[in-house]
Amino acid sequence: MHTISRLLTTGAIALAAVLPIQMSMSSCSNTNAAPADDFNYQVDRFADIEVLRYKVPDFDSLSLQQKCLVYYLTEAALWGRDILWDQNYRHNLAIRDLLENIYQNYSGDRNSADYKNFEKYLKQVWFANGIHHHYSNDKFTPAFSREFFNEQVAALPEGTVPENIAELTEVIFSPTLAAKKVNLAAGQDLVVTSCNNFYADGITQAEVESFYDRMKNAAIAANDSTPISYGLNSRIEKRDGKLYEQTYKIGGLYSDAIEEIVRNLRKATKYAENPQQLEVIETLIDYYTTGDLRTYDDYSIKWAKDTLSQVDFINGFIETYGDPVDLKGSWESIVNFKDFEASKRTEALSSNAQWFEDNSPVNPLYKKDNVKGVSAKVITAAILAGDSYPATPIGINLPNSRWIRRDHGSKSVTLANITNAYEMAAKGSGFNEEFVIDEETLNLINNYLAYTDELHTDLHECLGHASGRLLPGVAEDALRAHGSAIEETRADLFALYYLADPKMIEIGLIDNPEAYKAEYYKYILNGMMTQLMRIEPGKDIEEAHMRNRKLIAEWVYEHGKADNVIELVKKDGKTFIKINDYEALRGLFGQLLAEIQRICSTGDYDAACNLIETYAVKVDPELHNEVLERSKKLNMAEYKGFVNPVYTPVFDDKNNITDIKVSYDEGYIDQMLRYGKQYHGLK
Ligand code: ZN
Repeated sequence: MHTISRLLTTGAIALAAVLPIQMSMSSCSNTNAAPADDFNYQVDRFADIEVLRYKVPDFDSLSLQQKCLVYYLTEAALWGRDILWDQNYRHNLAIRDLLENIYQNYSGDRNSADYKNFEKYLKQVWFANGIHHHYSNDKFTPAFSREFFNEQVAALPEGTVPENIAELTEVIFSPTLAAKKVNLAAGQDLVVTSCNNFYADGITQAEVESFYDRMKNAAIAANDSTPISYGLNSRIEKRDGKLYEQTYKIGGLYSDAIEEIVRNLRKATKYAENPQQLEVIETLIDYYTTGDLRTYDDYSIKWAKDTLSQVDFINGFIETYGDPVDLKGSWESIVNFKDFEASKRTEALSSNAQWFEDNSPVNPLYKKDNVKGVSAKVITAAILAGDSYPATPIGINLPNSRWIRRDHGSKSVTLANITNAYEMAAKGSGFNEEFVIDEETLNLINNYLAYTDELHTDLHECLGHASGRLLPGVAEDALRAHGSAIEETRADLFALYYLADPKMIEIGLIDNPEAYKAEYYKYILNGMMTQLMRIEPGKDIEEAHMRNRKLIAEWVYEHGKADNVIELVKKDGKTFIKINDYEALRGLFGQLLAEIQRICSTGDYDAACNLIETYAVKVDPELHNEVLERSKKLNMAEYKGFVNPVYTPVFDDKNNITDIKVSYDEGYIDQMLRYGKQYHGLK
């Protein structure tokens, strides 16, 4: 991965998915968490998915101008939906139309197994923005029969059956056709074996790499210290044996959807909060109009520097996780506004960044003399769209361009209302009662975990990733395939170490010196046990964040054994984590942080490899099985996502907007069907 953005994010989602938390307001004066209420957070539950809804607290405290700005930005966000579907796989949109058509035309028995399985499949496809699982990238296997499907197709009104129905049917039912959206298996042609739509059929990985290497090498030869993000906004086609780019822009690929995005961005400009923000939006429009990646960089710099506006948004081809060779940006958008009260937290961390760097347990050789405070804020999400919907990050750190980060900085945000919705929805799932060892620890968790979890995220994002330096001559990718896992380990350890520091009380971020124990307990429990819920029996741990958490938990367990710092205790045949010495545990986090920073600073690949292989990959089959059995009883979903609120403008008789109303009563199916009709940008 050439980017550190969103790494936290995926991990944090995993945390939220794996360890629901009981909220208690008593200790959380610094959070904007809503008190327990009758808001219905749970929307739907199917397969391995739970769909939630989130609140947009304080939307009504925005000015009318800001509300209008948010409204048109959310419209611009929703209009990009079809782009992502098409990027994910070239038949996704046709299949979605077909499935929705069948669903709405169905008049048979709604209790039949085939129908229920068909509905489940459609819900899965909606959630994944296509026919491949959003996380595993494997194609969904329909549990309804082919006969049932054929009957439903035959029953569709005339003229609504697509011409290539035979091909689409084959795509849905064949286990081998388009089996993997993104393939990352070593030793294979990743472009040929991934069925996403960034490259036309028949194009090989070697062709793609040489196509872009030529551009990158030309930039290096010309001493270009500010290279564009080559290939970010295009699809690759081949004509007469030669590759060429189809650029996503007005008049180019995805023009119809992009025109709608731009139309709404233009409306948003009328409500910009200040000239800087106006320039940000206008530069984005310019980029969508020309497809010029220099303009995209210009936009990204302006966006990173706009820290004064309360309303903010991302909108574009941003993350490259969907492309196995890490070039093509998947379309996404999030609209949000700053939570001033909660942002005091991240500001307190940023303004003390140098103190944290100077006082860390790391060898001074590997520290930064001058830590640039990362601009960080806590935000309220107003809409999630494209690749951030329905599954969403809970933190964002952009832009991705290395030189922009180096020369102009980045913006780091935490999506507080999303985190809060996870927590509220998890109330009463019985998870903590099942896995936490005793009443005392349970109380700690109930009282402090919601808040210390947020603080951990802030520390990880604002300070963890920003700390430390590479020794001269050490390449940024010296740790190769282990780079991501080790980088996340470093940021997590920085956060864990400082969560227990008296400095946190001194700068007013924690009011109880015991609070950190809630996070420590959860971290070890998750790293050693509960995250195994997401691993299939017999499989190793592969994902970088899961490896990072396992590495830390297993390492401190092992190194604290002589002093009995952490114990695995059996009660009624069940395994529990018991932490006997929290202070010693903090010391171990500090020791490991020092070692991990040494590995990063010196590019010690062998040591990284050794740590990963010893602690982060292999799963104890017996404990794994136990965790699976215990969690199965709780009927918990492995993955969570959200429906959006609905924004409705109120007009006066002269057609002026007098207010924007927000409502939360739309269900999952209704929202998906409505989006499919209302924002069908590509047909
Ligand atoms: Zn991270």
